[in-house]
Amino acid sequence: MKNLSVGIIGAGPAGIAAAVECKASGIGNVVVFEKSTKFCSTIRRLYPAGKRVDRDYKGSKESSTGICTFETESKEEFIQRMKKYIEDYQIKIEYNVEINSLEKNDDFYFLKGGTLNFARAYVVIIGTGVFDRPKKPSYPIPEEIKDRVFFELPKELPEGEKILIVGGGNTAAELACLLAGKCDVHLSYRRPQFFRINEENLKELERKKDNIRFYLGTEIRELKGDNDLVKVFFTDGHTESFSKIFYCLGGSTPKLFLEKMGIKFQENLPAIDEFGESNLQRVFLIGDIAIKKGTIMHAFNSAHKAVKRILEKYPQVKLL
Ligand SMILES: Cc1cc2nc3c(=O)[nH]c(=O)nc-3n(C[C@H](O)[C@H](O)[C@H](O)COP(=O)(O)OP(=O)(O)OC[C@H]3O[C@@H](n4cnc5c(N)ncnc54)[C@H](O)[C@@H]3O)c2cc1C
Repeated sequence: MKNLSVGIIGAGPAGIAAAVECKASGIGNVVVFEKSTKFCSTIRRLYPAGKRVDRDYKGSKESSTGICTFETESKEEFIQRMKKYIEDYQIKIEYNVEINSLEKNDDFYFLKGGTLNFARAYVVIIGTGVFDRPKKPSYPIPEEIKDRVFFELPKELPEGEKILIVGGGNTAAELACLLAGKCDVHLSYRRPQFFRINEENLKELERKKDNIRFYLGTEIRELKGDNDLVKVFFTDGHTESFSKIFYCLGGSTPKLFLEKMGIKFQENLPAIDEFGESNLQRVFLIGDIAIKKGTIMHAFNSAHKAVKRILEKYPQVKLL
């Protein structure tokens, strides 16, 4: 078991940025624990190849306050950028380690995966994101159609199929544009118009509008099997069958995971102060897990803010 000054959970943009900030401030004894086999696993898994990674996302225009930053670029360029941060700052990442509980012992926390103690850390930073738990609709998805209903991108994108995409955000828009022309694409959104989509994606939707059928102001009440298809029952009485359905509804905060650690909640979000510190002293939450709608720039900046605070409030962290 390792003795650490700072133990970081999750090697996404937030966790990596926190490790970079620690290293740059002279906190040496830091390890990032990542449950998958690679850093930035959410981005690798959910962003389609070549996706544009927008710096200004979901209407947020945050300027950069810390070391990690980026300009709009492709998914592949962004991953290279993160790789360079890891190499330049010699960030230690332990892969295939899922931390699912914390146990306080004197002045330290044990970072535990099941019954195993992976580390003993003075400060803990949690940057595990929200995308392990995609939001799902309130109606049931019958067992017989589960292989035709997706909450993340499958390894192989469909071609020549009749597809329904459900959602009104950037992810739904980007998927619709990606599949437009390759599939018969339908986009269902419960509001009469888009309001959460950024300008670039709106322009792209406009360019591809002849290859996308927009079902705005529509809501689904039920799904059923229809031979090899999925029959969709809309609340206005319309029914239609599709070969695949993609839900792009975002992620949700893993409440149970945090509550099990002893972190308190307020109105469905973890109760943290302005620097990200939770009710557990020296346990900080950064990135998507700490707010309602996250962005990469917010993940970077929240890491900077938390580490700055750690140095001010707990300066002994440098000596451990
Ligand atoms: C399809 C899509 C498109 C997007 N496009 C953009 C965009 O263009 N611009 C933008 O700014 N934002 C975009 N976002 C949002 C952006 O991806 C997130 O805001 C960002 O990834 C948040 O970083 P994070 O480090 O908080 O979480 P994540 O990126 O989710 O990283 C969390 C990491 O923690 C690991 N982890 C989880 N649980 C554990 C555990 N218990 N133990 C150990 N490790 C764990 C995960 O494997 C993962 O590697 C998009 C999101 C999606 C889904």
